[in-house]
Amino acid sequence: MLNFNYRCSICSATYDIRPEYTVCPRCAPDQPVDQPLRGILEVELHGSASLRFSVDELLPIESEFYPPIPVGNTPLWKPLRLRELTGLNSLYLKDDGANPTSSFKDRASFLVSAAARKFAIGEITLASTGNAGSSMAGIGAAAGQHINLFLPASAPPAKLVQALQYGARVFRVNGNYDKAYDLSLHYSREYGGMNRNTAYNPLTIEGKKTVSLELFEQLGQVPDMVFVPVGDGCILAGVYKGFRDLAQLGYSDTLPKIVGVQAQTSDALFRAFHSGEFTSTPTSTVADSICVDVPRNGAHALSMLKAYGGQMMTVSDQEIIDAQSLLSRTSGLFTEPAGAAAFAGLWKMAAELEPDASVVVLATGNGLKDTGSAALGLEVPEHCIDTIDELL
Ligand SMILES: *Cc1c(COP(=O)(O)O)cnc(C)c1O
Repeated sequence: MLNFNYRCSICSATYDIRPEYTVCPRCAPDQPVDQPLRGILEVELHGSASLRFSVDELLPIESEFYPPIPVGNTPLWKPLRLRELTGLNSLYLKDDGANPTSSFKDRASFLVSAAARKFAIGEITLASTGNAGSSMAGIGAAAGQHINLFLPASAPPAKLVQALQYGARVFRVNGNYDKAYDLSLHYSREYGGMNRNTAYNPLTIEGKKTVSLELFEQLGQVPDMVFVPVGDGCILAGVYKGFRDLAQLGYSDTLPKIVGVQAQTSDALFRAFHSGEFTSTPTSTVADSICVDVPRNGAHALSMLKAYGGQMMTVSDQEIIDAQSLLSRTSGLFTEPAGAAAFAGLWKMAAELEPDASVVVLATGNGLKDTGSAALGLEVPEHCIDTIDELL
């Protein structure tokens, strides 16, 4: 049997897992603007787990509260043609576009929804570049929860339509994700309910750890490397958390090398990895899901990378678009630009890797979520035909 509590990643103060705790009450008040959140709370595990491994047992909310929607257990692909092209014999693609709302974000929304249900909270508010919002909307729909979404005006239309389709209340924000983030926190302070903002709600990182638990189950071991696309740095921290839990509980004795991949034009964590400091610059990239000025979980993600020998790299928008179609054409997996960024990172680094290393690329979202960006790398036929003769 395991017990769980929150522990502050800075001052180590511990707290019960209750909705009133988000970021550490001691560390968060000195929160400087334009900097990543301080005082991220991590879920800490105590006790020992069953010999027979189960993902549910390692989660801090009991399964009776899980929303009735099948999140996770996404397929692990063995892309044979890509293995030949890269010379990597144990290359894998984790297809998280196969989640119910077609992105990795469902892992976080699932656990947040379960917590809201456990504590009898019926309203959940968040800011999102698009995927977290449509995810929370879909999972909230399954659970019968009311979702308020603050969405930047520039979000791809499919993600807006998806959130509305699931019945969320959508507030479109005249500004970027950072502005939506601040407005959503303001709303939650005024009107209550649960806030699902990434990193601010500790269960977002904890939910995302399930990908590592699944990789361990699917491979029968910890992989050697994982390529992770990075925006706010929550997926990155979640991936580490899963593998750290496995090691703590004695299921494994190693951690993989994690490579975080950012867009060259939205690279705050990459820069901080080298300089030690976060500086905010205006960002824009074709990979909307990883476009953030201030990575909200940046400080926490950076400390993980440093503690466990991780690495950061960047790829250009052109490399992302090229990687997206290369991945589609060689494997049949059509992932959105953020997922393609992780693959672009692998592609750039493939020649340096050990041919037999087990390497996983996280394909974090379905390509149909943003066909506008995907079309940038394609020649769409203009002319429509009437007869076969016209083909000549
Ligand atoms: C949110 C998201 C990411 C980045 O995750 P962070 O936790 O913000 O670093 C990557 N890919 C997709 C498809 C996403 O929706």
